[in-house]
Amino acid sequence: MTAVEDPVTGLPTRRSFLSSLQRQVLLVNERRVTLGLLVIDVDGFAMINGAHGFAFGDRLLAHLAKQLRQVARSHDALGRIGDNRFGLVLTGLMNRGHAELAVHKLLRLLDSAFEDPTARVKIVVTVGLALCPQNASQADHLLRCAERSLAVARATAQRYLFPSEGAEESLSDLWDIEIELESAATRDELSMHYQPKVSMHDLRPVGAEALMRWNSATRGAVAPDVFIPVAEKTGQIRPLTAWAVNTALRHASEWQHPWERMSVAVNVPAEMVVQHDLPDLIENALNLWGRPNVELRLEITERSLVGDPRQSFRILSRIRDLGVKISIDDFGTGYSCLAYFRNIPADELKIDKSFVTSLIDDAASADITALIIDLAHRFGLTVVAEGVEDELTFDALRSRGCDVAQGYLFSKALPVAEFNRWLAARTATPAAR
Ligand code: C2E
Ligand code: CA
Ligand code: CA
Repeated sequence: MTAVEDPVTGLPTRRSFLSSLQRQVLLVNERRVTLGLLVIDVDGFAMINGAHGFAFGDRLLAHLAKQLRQVARSHDALGRIGDNRFGLVLTGLMNRGHAELAVHKLLRLLDSAFEDPTARVKIVVTVGLALCPQNASQADHLLRCAERSLAVARATAQRYLFPSEGAEESLSDLWDIEIELESAATRDELSMHYQPKVSMHDLRPVGAEALMRWNSATRGAVAPDVFIPVAEKTGQIRPLTAWAVNTALRHASEWQHPWERMSVAVNVPAEMVVQHDLPDLIENALNLWGRPNVELRLEITERSLVGDPRQSFRILSRIRDLGVKISIDDFGTGYSCLAYFRNIPADELKIDKSFVTSLIDDAASADITALIIDLAHRFGLTVVAEGVEDELTFDALRSRGCDVAQGYLFSKALPVAEFNRWLAARTATPAAR
């Protein structure tokens, strides 16, 4: 019988890794999901062995295997597929950004050198990637594809590479933004702006959405549509979100208004909704900045609920237990899993602005909007329309029973001082549009 486990690292051997890869590839074709394959190679391993001995080399591999286990999630497969080569199968990917995220996590973990009583060595790896079915639809092709990316990456002195053409260019641009973004927070280049949400029943401001702004010293204003996806791919979104929640709660606690409560909503990316420590992050922020007259809302997208709905439902329920409301953002653009709508741990649903802006001219958008409003109400959710730019759209939405409006008709997102002024003017004449 051949061994299924490598004695040095405790990981599956090449053979048993390849059979898991084969199984996973079959599931891809069945379930129409994306799978990522990473081939990870230790640079200069022969030199390390030569300089410090084989026993040290083995300990270094065992250490690397431990770091790889931290990158892998429970359904991912990991194996030692060569002397100094490892394979990692990432299951259930939404896009290639998720595979990049895994690479970045690994690179970050390897930032600190491996050290034992005999020597200290910085582990440098090169990673080749391939996606199934995009790059190959069979296990052996996929492996060859990832190994080819690895060879090209090494030849061109890149840390990691996808097989597609032009990948080098876009990746290097991402790197630049990533590096600048890392110091943006410490250089005070980030801020939160607030866009009012207004009740359609009595026109009173019920809260605001907090939207992040980056005013870069070198690039000028960078749109969140550009830098948020980069932050998501590189793992920086976690500290940014923590900062956003704390800042938004702090600002909202200073809003002057005659009402019992106003809400402040922070966007939370899908990746974070499945992380166990999200409730702790929220609870810590509430302990610091929470006030009885401020209600925190988290805006999540449907994408947060498709990967592992049971897990995200559990996490969202814990957050709701803290008195936080959950809002489903960009509704209608994603998967719209009506099947589990019934149990969805949410309070509010935001109709995507693509439907709202075309409501007047496009009968299909109008129908979809009316349907979403009905459905949401049936499940006890409040409905917010975002992107309301004119009176006609406002009236159409109100007549269909929509509850809250957000959009340029009232205001764009404002810096906190301007938002305070807007609020003061509004409380003086509440019924003005
Ligand atoms: P989103 O969550 O859907 O935010 C609404 C976007 O619509 C905002 O763009 C807002 O300025 C814009 N908008 C509001 N009213 C109107 C209108 O009447 N007409 C039109 N055409 N647009 C309107 P923004 O601020 O550029 O943000 C873009 C996206 O970036 C957001 O989409 C959100 O996905 C992301 N984002 C922004 N701030 C954050 C943040 O702090 N954290 C995270 N994770 N994502 C953020
Ligand atoms: Ca939002
Ligand atoms: Ca939205």
